[in-house]
Amino acid sequence: MMRKVAIYGKGGIGKSTTTQNTVAALVEMGKKVMVVGCDPKADSTRLLLNGLAQKTVLDTIREEGEDVELEDIRRAGFGSSLCVESGGPEPGVGCAGRGIITSINLLEQLGAYEESEQLDYAFYDVLGDVVCGGFAMPIRQGKAQEIYIVCSGEMMAMYAANNICKGIRKFAEAGGVRLGGLICNSRKVDNEREMIAEFANRLGTQMIHFVPRDNDVQRAEIRKMTVIDWNKECPQADEYRTLASNIDKNDMFVVPKPLEVEQLESLLLEYGLLEGAAA
Ligand code: ADP
Ligand code: SF4
Ligand code: MG
Repeated sequence: MMRKVAIYGKGGIGKSTTTQNTVAALVEMGKKVMVVGCDPKADSTRLLLNGLAQKTVLDTIREEGEDVELEDIRRAGFGSSLCVESGGPEPGVGCAGRGIITSINLLEQLGAYEESEQLDYAFYDVLGDVVCGGFAMPIRQGKAQEIYIVCSGEMMAMYAANNICKGIRKFAEAGGVRLGGLICNSRKVDNEREMIAEFANRLGTQMIHFVPRDNDVQRAEIRKMTVIDWNKECPQADEYRTLASNIDKNDMFVVPKPLEVEQLESLLLEYGLLEGAAA
């Protein structure tokens, strides 16, 4: 059975980087994975394609109409990965979130999710600090069943993660979408690992992996590669392998319990983040 996974989190937190590096590890494990970039920036597959996708789904539809082939919008990436970029509406016109649904619907029509494709995973890399109506679409319409939130020990990242949990809870009650865990993408904040593990615990979920901050990510990125593609021996490659394997064997799927702002602040206080501020 194919798993449909969406990655959410604050802008710049590392969603696209983490998604692609994890997908590279899943592919290495022998899994067949399709990545659907759901950010108008269309940079969700650059590391898997060794360069930016030439044309997005929405560009293709605009130029060629709906009469397109799967090959026009889906490209082969690292290993046996398959890459799609939804793209966005013309700036200032239309709803970017709706564009994502248009793209996913087209992929469905063209048979990208059929049994015969033998996909183990579809990953959606979704833009979104805010779970607006548009960017909640993949959750709301049941396009994704399993969510991971990328966050760090920085307050705004935790605040965004908590807000995303509110969105998930809202739609989880009606549909089948569940939270699979928090991915801590380290910003080297004091007590970060312990704090995010506890944050996850209070949300009723788990920290599925703590990904260290490592310059090898940039060394690979500058070469338009995932870490595994660039240097499969380096320690960071193993971190992504662990994350991929934790996701692959995950069986903890919950309706999250978002925290009140006061509870979030007291968590930050407990872990010493506001240390000295009271003095
Ligand atoms: P998002 O998709 O959430 O907006 P990106 O994946 O584009 O964020 O990440 C922003 C930048 O952070 C990337 O250019 C990448 O170099 C850097 N980055 C992400 N994760 C790590 C990490 N674990 N170690 C070092 N740098 C990272
Ligand atoms: Fe943009 Fe979200 Fe509003 Fe759509 S719903 S127009 S994506 S802010
Ligand atoms: Mg991104």
